[in-house]
Amino acid sequence: MKKSQLCLVCTSKTIQENIENIEKYKDRIDCIELRADFLSPEEQSVLDKFPAFTNLPVILTIRRKSDGGVFKGTEQERRQLLKQGSRGDYAYIDLETDFRDEELEASLKSRNIKIIRSFHDLESVPGNLVKRVKKIAENKNEIPKAAVTPKSTSDLLAFFEACRELSHTEKIIIGMGEFGVTTRILANKTGSMISYCSVPGQSAAPGHLDPITMTTLYRFHRIGKHTKIYGIIGNPIHHSSSPLIHNRGLRDLMIDAVYVPFLTDDVKSFFEIANLLSIEGFSVTIPHKEEVIRHLKKTDQHIEAVGACNTVVHRGNHYIGTNTDIEGFISPLYTYFSPDEMKSMKATVIGAGGASRACVYALRKAGMTVLILNRTPAKAKKLSEEFDTQWGPLDETGFSRMKNFCDLIIQTTSVGMVPKSEQDPLAAYKFAGNEFVYDLIYNPKLTRLLERALSAGCKVLNGEEMLVAQAHLQFKLFTGRESLFKNNYLSDFMRTEIPEM
Ligand code: NAP
Repeated sequence: MKKSQLCLVCTSKTIQENIENIEKYKDRIDCIELRADFLSPEEQSVLDKFPAFTNLPVILTIRRKSDGGVFKGTEQERRQLLKQGSRGDYAYIDLETDFRDEELEASLKSRNIKIIRSFHDLESVPGNLVKRVKKIAENKNEIPKAAVTPKSTSDLLAFFEACRELSHTEKIIIGMGEFGVTTRILANKTGSMISYCSVPGQSAAPGHLDPITMTTLYRFHRIGKHTKIYGIIGNPIHHSSSPLIHNRGLRDLMIDAVYVPFLTDDVKSFFEIANLLSIEGFSVTIPHKEEVIRHLKKTDQHIEAVGACNTVVHRGNHYIGTNTDIEGFISPLYTYFSPDEMKSMKATVIGAGGASRACVYALRKAGMTVLILNRTPAKAKKLSEEFDTQWGPLDETGFSRMKNFCDLIIQTTSVGMVPKSEQDPLAAYKFAGNEFVYDLIYNPKLTRLLERALSAGCKVLNGEEMLVAQAHLQFKLFTGRESLFKNNYLSDFMRTEIPEM
């Protein structure tokens, strides 16, 4: 199977703007699709000149609304435009399965312009996907293209199963939308001849990534038959920083592997995908950290202690799990406190959710006395009963109890995270200045809470070290190698190389 080509879809209103975009990304892409339906009418009249502006192969496409395009004219006008445009030196022309024009097709054949014969399903992954692709492939002069829309993890499973059935058929096959993002990154695994991407901010289809994300973050062109797949499951998932950290780690050590986000609404179907794609290991985030445990062959004492799993690895034909949040949380504290010091420390934990649970377990294991304060006091009480701690509400009553538990203050709620970074879950608490304050949030780096603590003279720590420490442990479990992760890794990488996804 030939390597998949990365195609930049050009959707600007003018030829000139499209050429500028091609110039910007030409070293990252292999071909271009001119979406002439986006061009203004006066620019459409010079369609045939476009391929001469680039050395890269160009696909001509004029997409109707019903197939996800924006062409406003009649079908007759579209036909005329396709005929006129195809006089240019295009490598391919995209014609839908219900579009037929013998004269045009004969002319394309005589000039060696290949037809991409496409169909779109903007709502689902159709049950007859394999049959439809195979039917088009019967005509050796045409390349079948299916752009379909998985709307759930089980749809995504059906998509990957169809790709496996079509593994010996030359085709373009794409999963659109949020669930389909992974299929675009893994085109070299699905056997799609082409994967499409867009200029940032000009997404031509739901789920398109930009050329820099595809080539720098996911190393699109390096993914091959032997490339191992790792990933992260969650819902939502596309905001996650884990692909930035793990892909950078894989690249640093030149490991032939990629780490991809899988939007997941059904863990059971995901395990079927994991088996189908031979996924070697994956991270687990909200809301699947508990559910995933039911599907594991083996768990360890960390999972049993906190009832949550954030790391799954493939070992001897099975998936087994562990939790690296516990060690990831406590290990940065050893820079500041010795194990002996910790035994006599008193800590307050704000919040009683999943992250709090891992923290409370780690603090108690380190020998600390703990007070848990939570907006919903019943949850704090429940956690305190499990781990033998004090508990209270997240209000004046709770704050007044903190004075006996303030060597260390751990903030584990999502309050203060972007976009609501002005919020402070302890706004009514006045720091004495000798507390050590650890906020699990890493975006922003300095929460409102940490800002106040710093100006009162406290030592502070944000969630980035925990994020990186737990990822370091995951990386070792996934690959067997020590990562080169550094604490400023994430922010450096985001700032210098990767635009927002
Ligand atoms: P979770 O299970 O949903 O728990 C959320 C906690 O926040 C609960 O205690 C909840 O209180 C509290 N909370 C939510 N909104 C609140 C509000 N407006 N006022 C007061 N309390 C509020 O979530 P989680 O998994 O524990 O994650 C919590 C945070 O930790 C997230 O920001 C996450 O990014 C961060 N985290 C960071 C790392 C890292 O590596 N740095 C790792 C894991 C988690 P109720 O019980 O009253 O609802």
